[in-house]
Order: sequence, then structure tokens, then C-alpha cells
Amino acid sequence: MSNAKAYSTDAATSPLAPASIPRRETGPKDVHIQILFCGVCHTDLHISRNEWGGTTYPCVPGHEIVGRVIKTGAEVKHFKEGDLAAVGCMVDSCRCCENCRDGFEQFCESGTIFTYNAPDKHLGGMTYGGYSDHVVVDEAFVLRVPGNLDLAACAPLLCAGITTYSPLRHHKVGKGQKVGIVGLGGLGHMGVKFAHAFGAHVVVLTTSPGKAEDALRLGADEVVISTSPDEMKKHANSFHFILDTVSAPHDINAFFALLKRDGTLTQVGVPAQPLPVQVFSLLHNRRSFSGSLIGGIRETQEMLDFCGEHSITSDIELIPIQKINEAYERLLKSDVKYRFVIDMATLQ
Ligand code: NAP
Ligand code: ZN
Ligand code: ZN
Repeated sequence: MSNAKAYSTDAATSPLAPASIPRRETGPKDVHIQILFCGVCHTDLHISRNEWGGTTYPCVPGHEIVGRVIKTGAEVKHFKEGDLAAVGCMVDSCRCCENCRDGFEQFCESGTIFTYNAPDKHLGGMTYGGYSDHVVVDEAFVLRVPGNLDLAACAPLLCAGITTYSPLRHHKVGKGQKVGIVGLGGLGHMGVKFAHAFGAHVVVLTTSPGKAEDALRLGADEVVISTSPDEMKKHANSFHFILDTVSAPHDINAFFALLKRDGTLTQVGVPAQPLPVQVFSLLHNRRSFSGSLIGGIRETQEMLDFCGEHSITSDIELIPIQKINEAYERLLKSDVKYRFVIDMATLQ
């Protein structure tokens, strides 16, 4: 066992503060990674503050991890000391249930082991995430980072990237389709980049008029201010697919009304309260409402390789870890362009 430096919180109402946490010895199949950068996902805030229930304290968030391999176990095949490596939202699963075998470890029937706030079968207690200086992870859950991209800007691909790539791929978003991305935050801005790269006509639906110019630069073809009923009305019944990334309560029915016949709205944002669904808004145009949770390991690697080939990274604001509590407050004000990433060199 080793001790890692980390930032942790002890209660829903406490700020994150420096802490020391245990990491297991590097087992035969393990990769020991020095964490260089970790993205800040809105999920980190939801879980730190127990907004969904189920948080166990102390809690060390962080599931957008990139770094360098400092040690490998004897049976590790695909990584060696000095390689770049990444870890996303999961660190283990049963690997034998139907979902695991099909590459959907995020739906493991025995319970996915998430990167933080999940039972740790090695040390007991709970898993601790990436707001720390190193981590030990089974090779099967470690990803390869394309060498041609800025490393810090790759970190958000591990959650914001895969969470938007996966549903856009599953719903076969591409040329000839009008696709809406609701909310231009960490997830949303990656959704815009992917939908644009897949050839769709991309419309950003935002509550922040000040983000319109950025939306177009990121790859959107049009911007709609979603708080304006007149602007929304112009797009009624016209979208093939809408991806909703909003983290707070909002009127989802206003977005259903934008879907054309057989259109789908996929929800990836997870407000702490249930979203009221007006059934009539689904009946008209035979609309579908679905969800999506991150993506499996195989698809996450596919997404990273796609990003390498198409030079896609996240637009980030690099912060020292001492600014993490301030970053959370700014997240709540939708004041991030478009993902905070922690420079772990500042964790001394
Ligand atoms: P984020 O960077 O804070 O972005 C959320 C965006 O939602 C904001 O930028 C804002 O966009 C919009 N928004 C915020 N408050 C709003 C309000 N009151 N009304 C309307 N729009 C509002 O968050 P994120 O990291 O992208 O995460 C978004 C959500 O996805 C979170 O709930 C997170 O937990 C969840 N998530 C889910 C998965 C999954 O697997 N399904 C994975 C990761 C994260 P505008 O300023 O453009 O309006
Ligand atoms: Zn996340
Ligand atoms: Zn399983």
C-alpha cells in the first residue's frame, strides 16, 4: 500500500481540502499511473455534495484522468513504464455478465466499480478518484491516449467525451440530420464537436446568449436561446435528435416539441430532481425519450482514437487544485469555457 496526496471532502456541506489516501500495491495485472491532469465533471460536484444521495465520505472525486505509467505488474501486456495512460469513470466490473461481455461495463449486472464512491474490493471502503497524485488500476480499465493531442485537453474526453460520443453514435447521428445539443458546458461542447465531426447540422440550445459566438466556433451551424419562446417556436417539429446535457431542473417538454416525427431526445444531464414529462408532448410525432450512461471501455478507446485522427480535444481552463472549490461555484453559474482541468503538479 502507498499513500497518495489528494483533495477530499468529508461532508455534503464541506469544501474539498488536502488529504492523504491509501492506494493498493501494484498487482500483477495493474498499471500504476502518476496523474498529471484530471478534468472536473459536474458529476464530481453532484456527488461531493450528495445531491443524488448515496455519497460515502470521505469522498475524492475525479474521473477524467490522464497521466504517465510509473510501474506495471508482471502480467500487464499493453502498457510499460513511461507510457501515457488514461482512466475514465470505471475501474472494474465483473467482466463475465452479458453486458460486460458485450462491452457495456457501465451496465455490469454485478455492479460497475466506478472510479470513486464505489466499493473497493482491494482495500475495503470506497474507491477514490483522480483529484490525487497517483492511482493503481487494472490494465483492462486503462485507456491509451493519442500522442498527437494536448494531454491536459484530453482529460475531459474520458467522461464528457465518451458520454456525448456514445449516444450520438448509437443514434447514428450524421449527414442530413438536424441535431440539437442542449446546454453548452463540459458535455455540451464535446457533443457539438462530435456531432459536427459526424456531419450533422448542429444547433446549440443555450440559456447563455454570451456563448453564441463560441458555439459557432466549436462547430454549431445555428444557436437558439432556449429561454426565448419565439426562437424555440421557429424550430418546432424539426429535429431528428436532441442531446440534453443540462445539470439543473428545466422544462424538458419544450425540447420534445422540437422533435420531428420519430425523433429522439436522449438525456445525459442528471438534475437532482425528477423532470416532469408531459405525455402528450411524446405522443405527438411518435417521439422517443431515452437516456445514456458514459460508454464501455471498447467504445471509449474508439472515441479516443477518433479524437486522435480528427484532432479533437476539449476547450479547457487549467486550474491549480487549490482553486477547486471556486471552480465548483463557477460550474453552478455555467461559467466555464468549457471544462476545468486540474494541473496535478500543483498538488504538493
Ligand atoms: P456543466 O459543464 O456544468 O454544463 C451544464 C450546462 O447546462 C451549463 O453550461 C448550462 O448551459 C446548462 N444549465 C445549467 N444550469 C441550467 C439551468 N438552470 N437551466 C438550463 N440550463 C442550465 O456540466 P457537465 O459536466 O457538462 O455535466 C452536465 C450534466 O451531465 C450533469 O448533471 C452531470 O452529472 C451529467 N453527466 C452525466 C453523464 C452520463 O453518463 N449520463 C456523464 C457525465 C456527466 P448553457 O449555459 O448553455 O445553458
Ligand atoms: Zn463525468
Ligand atoms: Zn458484469
